[in-house]
Amino acid sequence: MKKTHSLIAASAGLVIALGAGLSIANFRSAEATSARTTFARPVVVDEAPKPPGVDLTLFSALADASQLKKLSRDVNACHEALSAASVTFTEVPATKQGQCGFTEAVEISSSLASWEPNPGAPKELPMTCGLAAKLHLWERHVVIPAAEKYLGSPVEEIKVFGTFQCRTVADTDKLSEHAFAKAIDVAAFVLADGRTITVLGDYHTKGAAGDFLREIRQRACDLFDVTLGPDYNEAHANHFHLDVGGQRACR
Ligand SMILES: [Zn+2]
Repeated sequence: MKKTHSLIAASAGLVIALGAGLSIANFRSAEATSARTTFARPVVVDEAPKPPGVDLTLFSALADASQLKKLSRDVNACHEALSAASVTFTEVPATKQGQCGFTEAVEISSSLASWEPNPGAPKELPMTCGLAAKLHLWERHVVIPAAEKYLGSPVEEIKVFGTFQCRTVADTDKLSEHAFAKAIDVAAFVLADGRTITVLGDYHTKGAAGDFLREIRQRACDLFDVTLGPDYNEAHANHFHLDVGGQRACR
């Protein structure tokens, strides 16, 4: 029913647009012949209503903070958004470890790049769906284009130190967002041409690899609640910490 409605609205819009186009054409020729004719104002029609949900394949989704917030609250909508963007994932059963744990989480099976544990890191990378959706946006609209721009090759693999871990923030007794599967530590990027760009080795270097890493860290700040990297402190010299815990920091 909705579809029919928007089709009618769209065709009505087309007719009005054509009408307006004709009026403009008439106006121009009228102007040329100095004829005094009055024309009706073009009728402004509201655009057809947007379909529900968030299209993660659109660049504009990056800036749609309210829709993205909705994804972190509505697991079903979030799963739909991932599937619609061709991200495949498995649902992870609710987990509780003392004060830590999560009630909903996914593990990404395939996305544009593959998300892989760094050697020695835990094999499982459970994360809340809200985090997975933002990672997909970052990967699709920021990381891969930036790699092509600076390094001439897309990213094929993203190496991760970990997601869920029952621990506190270093030097505090406050639980980390890792304790709730709302954070990820990103260590390195493997390009299609075989090169590996690491946060530890390349972040502070002059040139393309450093520019790539500094740009994707800066633009992560627009998307994630907290983005921390080597500029912040020694504890983050080898990774970007990205989380959706609700606090704000970009360092
Ligand atoms: Zn972290």
